[in-house]
Amino acid sequence: MERKNVLVSDEELLRQREYMRRVRAISDARTRAPTALVDTFGCQQNVADGEVLAGMLAEMGYEPASDAADADVVLLNTCAVRAHAEQRVFGELGELSHTKAANPEQVIVLCGCMAQQRRVADKVRESYRHVDLVLGAQAEWRLPELLYGVLTQRKRAFALDDAGRIAEGLPVRRDGTVRAWVSIMYGCNNFCSYCIVPHVRGRERSRDPEKIIAECRELIAAGYKEIYLLGQNVNSYGNDLDAGWDFADLLAAIDAIEGDYWLRFMSSQPKDATKKLFDTMARCKHVAKCLHLPVQSGSDRVLAAMRRPYTRRGYMDLIAYARKVMPGLVLTSDVIIGFPGETEAEAMETVELVREAKFDALFTFLFSPRPGTPAAELPDPVPRAEKQRWFDRLLDVQNAHSASTHAAYVGKTVRVLVDGESDDPAFPLSCRTEGNRLVRAKGDKSRIGTFAAVTVTGSNTWALYGEVCE
Ligand code: SF4
Repeated sequence: MERKNVLVSDEELLRQREYMRRVRAISDARTRAPTALVDTFGCQQNVADGEVLAGMLAEMGYEPASDAADADVVLLNTCAVRAHAEQRVFGELGELSHTKAANPEQVIVLCGCMAQQRRVADKVRESYRHVDLVLGAQAEWRLPELLYGVLTQRKRAFALDDAGRIAEGLPVRRDGTVRAWVSIMYGCNNFCSYCIVPHVRGRERSRDPEKIIAECRELIAAGYKEIYLLGQNVNSYGNDLDAGWDFADLLAAIDAIEGDYWLRFMSSQPKDATKKLFDTMARCKHVAKCLHLPVQSGSDRVLAAMRRPYTRRGYMDLIAYARKVMPGLVLTSDVIIGFPGETEAEAMETVELVREAKFDALFTFLFSPRPGTPAAELPDPVPRAEKQRWFDRLLDVQNAHSASTHAAYVGKTVRVLVDGESDDPAFPLSCRTEGNRLVRAKGDKSRIGTFAAVTVTGSNTWALYGEVCE
């Protein structure tokens, strides 16, 4: 499949490989191996990008650091979706001026979605002069070349390329051995009026299905038990390919790989979710019967103002169909309260939708204006305290439903994937059900990385508690 305008060319990738070798030579010449800290903020897509950045750094001879003070390279892999995340990053950048003062050779890199924005780059250029390299989310594959420039010339660099390309075959250092993130596409074409993502990650571009399937096959053969397919809007996967593949076709092709694993995906736009997708999910053996379908609002007027091209009725019909073909489906969603101009009655329409939809879990957000998006320009007369009141009513409804759903599990035995250690010494194992419910369990740590049966003995709003059955 020829996609010359989208794929980073072999020549460009070879050039980056050459710069990896050059940086490696600098690392090897040091008296001790240099170290790098990759500090990732935000969504799973950023986590996946962080694993590629860490992979390139490993290839260049950097060992992982756990503390910025000791690291030779500190890379902040940032998120631009909410104002709070941005403030935290600027706070960390401020702290890093001290580590850099103590170690002037330290290289500080700002990358990810925040770094892709010109206003952020300008602010860093002027006010954070200790930052050596600003690398936008779409330019991260050029890290080797740019890092080499900083190391050899001690010159600041700003790379905000927005060509929207895909770099295949870069090294990856995965954080775990149980769950693997696989990006299937990048960018978004939807331009929801509150969202910064299309402005920083560019237009949708899908990876070739053969490359994705080969990556999943390798991961399953290597023993990964959970494969997470990632994209800003996986439901439009393939729209930019001329190969006739859509997301349902991709799911079915991966599902055909033999092995004991769960296949998950996120995120989905309701406007692109199809009956074909739900039918495919229903018949695929490895696809977890679990769907995250962000509704954002229960008011048709607010949905239109958000530029979300579906209606409340359309959304409810969609989830009714999904539940019909997948009985027991675990359904989760996102909701924004306090969109500019939203009235109390409209916010209560959202609360009512949540009551009616009976989501298994809900990710709730108070509207956060992002500079550069149309929603940030809208008049927003409702005081925050008032929005918070609406928000609390929403939480009451959802929390009551989550608690009663979880309570119904007590006494049952569920199949889980033991994915790590929990922070609760009484229930040391952290597990997930097929529906992605968190389970904390008693059991031996040797079970980590395996599927197990857990008898549920207790629950609260957020988790189930139980014991691994032998
Ligand atoms: S579909 Fe998702 S990522 Fe794309 S613009 Fe809308 S909210 Fe943002």
